[in-house]
Amino acid sequence: MNNRRTFKLILLELVIILLIVGSFITFSYSHRNYINKEVNQNNILISYPFFDNKMDNVINTYLKGLDSSKVDKVKYYLSTIDNKTSILFKLYHQNLVVDYQSFIFNDQEDEDSIDKIVDKKVLLKKAALYAFNNKLRISDAEIDKAKINIYLKQDKMDLYLTDYNEEKDILYIPLDYNELKGSLKIKIKYNQDYSLMKTTTTTTTTKSIVPKKLIAFTFDDGPSIYTLNLLDILDEYGAKATFFEVGYNIAKYKDVTLEVYKRGFEVGNHTMDHSNLTKYSIDVIKQKINDNNALYYSITGQNLTLLRPPYGRFNDNVKASITTPIITWDVDTEDWKSRNTDMIVAAVIGHVNEGDIVLFHDIYPTTIEAIKIILPILYQDNYQIVGVSELFKTRNITLEPAQYYRSAR
Ligand code: ZN
Repeated sequence: MNNRRTFKLILLELVIILLIVGSFITFSYSHRNYINKEVNQNNILISYPFFDNKMDNVINTYLKGLDSSKVDKVKYYLSTIDNKTSILFKLYHQNLVVDYQSFIFNDQEDEDSIDKIVDKKVLLKKAALYAFNNKLRISDAEIDKAKINIYLKQDKMDLYLTDYNEEKDILYIPLDYNELKGSLKIKIKYNQDYSLMKTTTTTTTTKSIVPKKLIAFTFDDGPSIYTLNLLDILDEYGAKATFFEVGYNIAKYKDVTLEVYKRGFEVGNHTMDHSNLTKYSIDVIKQKINDNNALYYSITGQNLTLLRPPYGRFNDNVKASITTPIITWDVDTEDWKSRNTDMIVAAVIGHVNEGDIVLFHDIYPTTIEAIKIILPILYQDNYQIVGVSELFKTRNITLEPAQYYRSAR
């Protein structure tokens, strides 16, 4: 090897090393280092970020003050925008979200008030306007005395108002940064596609109303990388659902499969490979269903007791192959087709009635976003979202083997 070639090689190696080191430096600069800690303190299961700096004092003081008769679980969200660290604690009691608490820290590790981010008066005006536009049961006086919590995301700010009434309701308002232009004191990237004509859906969770009208939500074709986020949203409203899982995704996301089961959600069979079962012989149909059941059993120790044939297609051969009920749907959100949050919301709101079975797919982020909007609206309207078996059981309908059901109406 001649000297010139050796020199070139060393130069190349140096460049690669510099690139690697450089990317580490950039990473630690833009993301504050922390580790996720979990403790059980006075019977409260607390997840919190540990920074190993003075931010921990503020966080610990807050967490130590929690009342275990009102809170039994704490989760958090964390993001970094314009050198601000935004933390949102979500407080649960018996699996319902009962309160939020936000913190903003600056690059000196000191806590910043909300006024350092955005004029609080502007936030309150926005909240009052949305409450009015959406006919929400919250008065201007209640808004004025509410506890304001904000969480900074890349494209929007989540605003949570709590502690404003006896019922401990929570008002959640997603605010696009464009709506706060002029009053924001941090540097963010504005979404170019944003149009001010867009109607922001504002929602409130109301725990004081006893829900009466039952609907089943079903999610097909998962599990996926979005499923766990969906479970959190469902848990927030005490909602249940049935997941019709397909074998190739169960195999790919075994941890998620186990988590869905552990968190008490019903799971049904959607075959091993998502085949149109009407094209196959009884033997092949049995194999496609039973292989998926065996795979699910190997992970959870449970059998799949409902079948949703892919595409909703079945015939006498399918009926002859199974001992489980066949469950299709009577409200199709066509979420796989539109992949559009507003369209998915529109397909549900105003189109569902007691006893319906609604079809979604937990493999699209647009579907998960839609569920966030749909649940509080339905809960406001006295609906309760459940899994398929619970829907039929509550309505005193017995699900028979190899029989077909599209709703419990
Ligand atoms: Zn499917």
